[in-house]
Amino acid sequence: MSTAPVPAEEKANSTEELTEPDAIPAGSVREEYENLTDLVRKYRFAYYQEDEPLVSDAEFDELFRRLEEIEALHPELVANDSPTQEVGGEVSAAFAAVEHLQRMYSLEDVFSLEELEAWITKAEAGVSKLGDTAQLAWLTELKIDGLAVNLLYRDGKLVRAATRGDGTTGEDITHNVLTIKEIPTELTGTGFPSEVEIRGEVFIPSKAFAEFNEALIEAGKAPLANPRNAAAGSIRQKDPAETAKRPLRMFVHGIGAREGLETLSQSQTYAVLEEWGLPVSPYFEVLGGLPEILAFIKRYGEQRHNLMHEIDGIVVKVDDLATQRALGYTSRVPRWAVAYKYPPEEVHTRLLDIRVQVGRTGRVTPFGVLEPVKVAGSTVARATLHNQDVVKAKGVLIGDVVVLRKAGDVIPEIVGPVLALRKGREGELREFVMPTECPSCGTELAPSKEGDIDIRCPNSRSCPIQLTERVAHLAGRGAFDIEALGGEAAVALTDPAEPRPGPLVSESELFSLTAADLEHVRILREKRSKGVGTGVFELVPYFWTKATAKTPSKPTATTNKLFDELTKAKTQPLWRVLVALSIRHVGPRASRALATAFGTMDGIRNASEEDLAHVDGVGPTIAAALKEWFAEDWHVEIIERWAAAGVRMADERDESMPRTLEGLTIVVTGSLPNFSRDEAKEAILTRGGKAAGSVSKNTSYVVAGESAGTKLDKAEQLGIPVLDEDGFRELLANGPAPAAEATPIPTPTESEEAAV
Ligand code: NAD
Repeated sequence: MSTAPVPAEEKANSTEELTEPDAIPAGSVREEYENLTDLVRKYRFAYYQEDEPLVSDAEFDELFRRLEEIEALHPELVANDSPTQEVGGEVSAAFAAVEHLQRMYSLEDVFSLEELEAWITKAEAGVSKLGDTAQLAWLTELKIDGLAVNLLYRDGKLVRAATRGDGTTGEDITHNVLTIKEIPTELTGTGFPSEVEIRGEVFIPSKAFAEFNEALIEAGKAPLANPRNAAAGSIRQKDPAETAKRPLRMFVHGIGAREGLETLSQSQTYAVLEEWGLPVSPYFEVLGGLPEILAFIKRYGEQRHNLMHEIDGIVVKVDDLATQRALGYTSRVPRWAVAYKYPPEEVHTRLLDIRVQVGRTGRVTPFGVLEPVKVAGSTVARATLHNQDVVKAKGVLIGDVVVLRKAGDVIPEIVGPVLALRKGREGELREFVMPTECPSCGTELAPSKEGDIDIRCPNSRSCPIQLTERVAHLAGRGAFDIEALGGEAAVALTDPAEPRPGPLVSESELFSLTAADLEHVRILREKRSKGVGTGVFELVPYFWTKATAKTPSKPTATTNKLFDELTKAKTQPLWRVLVALSIRHVGPRASRALATAFGTMDGIRNASEEDLAHVDGVGPTIAAALKEWFAEDWHVEIIERWAAAGVRMADERDESMPRTLEGLTIVVTGSLPNFSRDEAKEAILTRGGKAAGSVSKNTSYVVAGESAGTKLDKAEQLGIPVLDEDGFRELLANGPAPAAEATPIPTPTESEEAAV
């Protein structure tokens, strides 16, 4: 397929010189044009007839634009049946063909804000040429990524529903549409015309789509590619009972033939449709001009993934119906409306390979190696596939063309294969097989416990890649925050390759590194020539400069920065040290909770599994992971070596506080007016008390705020003293004796409880 830009000389050969089609040499523009026409037809057929696109919308749109571009330069090429003159879509023999009373149209697309501005300016100029000088109002709404459907009501009764088809003739899908509950079979209210065609979009809401797909995967079936194709496939089922199982919805956004309906504007029409009981989208606004339209586009661009359905753009329509009529239609689109398309989030690319990576906790994850492709503003060359079950569920084979989705800031996802493109290529495709040995250290892989989907490399201590990953992680922003120790430096420091392995064989030595240890650290880098990679790799010094005849080698500025940052890292708070240790399941949230509850590394290490599990935000899985981690001698050695090098293993507490709560265990529950949960726990810890997460017979006090739940009930059952905030303050200030006399919160009397 050729989508190359028009060469300069072809552009120069403008239409004036090329009035005869035959004047265009075969093998040049004509050939490209014919190829493009064939491709667009083929892709339209797969998209509209089979509900199984062969290329992404973005790729299709690019081809279509190129076709339009050639036609603009060479109008003599344009035949009546050119795809640019037709509404895409045909009628399948599987359905009865029905003629629409009034033609259905597509929409003109623009792909940038500049193009939109040009379109609006042109439309405004067109309107003022017609003699209308009034400021245009623009009905601006979401472009629902669904399937166009035409509903025909006679005397208020739904008599037929059809797909758009080629715009003139559609497919009769009445029985299927009847399964969509919100489409009224009879219009409500009064004043509806004897005959009216109502146009709208059938779609599957995003949440329902995700749930539907989950159910398919659970039933061992292939998930549906995207909500648009799913909606199209669902409404074009032969058996309405099958359609009824799909979570279809509809929003109406226009009117075709009508008898005796006298609305003046599109927005007024929407109000009438709503009165008749038809589902009108809540997301439309009538706007005064370009700045407001641009703000609307920006707002919905940001909220795109929080809406109830997928959108692929924004539709802008002249609101006034008389102006719409005056502007009219081309053979394919109205001249009074335009669709602004957001940058694509779904593209097709080839899955070149599936490899595995080993993470810092030994988890082995397959990921797809992709032919690099641009999507949602960035170039993507790999995407995680999570585990072997996911690879299986997605049904992808190495060599497949796959759909890749990148929705906003979310990590790119391989949606599934384009099955239709497998035909004839079966020999080139192969299934992914999960390796049985660690690609880094050769150790046999195994699930950490029976029934686990994830498999792991158990050699966590000396598997080189795990060490590298742990070192890179501990330097990260959420841990010690050592900027000079990035991914590449972590590789250089831990590279086990002879003759000069990196100086770190365990992270325990990190804070004991000296500048001399780094002198001979090398990294493998590609040689570049004039900024371009040569494919030749060489070992280059990483932390020290290269010695020359005149100057001896010395540490680089980044290396000096590394040592400064290592010194600073030693004073990081305890929770960051915990994150840095790469303990399974222990992320920033659990680490903060542990640091607040125990205050010292020793406190955490010596706590019972039960005590750990009772900390809010920790729970039994993390508690078990912590106990397991501390049981390994080499893990304890990391802590000891770091502590010996000066890493702080306890949070600084205000030592001036009186230790009023020594020996007491206090549970805080519900919300207190003047303490956050963390502040309350901190107040307990600084006074020598223990802040526990659950009530037991060992609890000394329960501090209960508003909406205290089961913990308060349990305290009452066990007869543990319950304090309100005032009582808590007393306790903090003076210790147990006076607090015991503080007023406990009154428990509701039976009659009060009945009143609630
Ligand atoms: P379109 O989808 O770009 O726009 C026209 C349609 O938008 C209308 O028919 C209408 O049903 C719908 N629409 C949604 N919300 C609307 C609203 N609020 N108001 C009015 N209309 C609204 O045009 P099209 O002709 O249906 O399809 C062309 C597009 O379909 C292409 O741009 C491409 O993205 C996609 N396509 C893809 C392939 C492929 O192979 N991937 C093939 C053909 C078409």
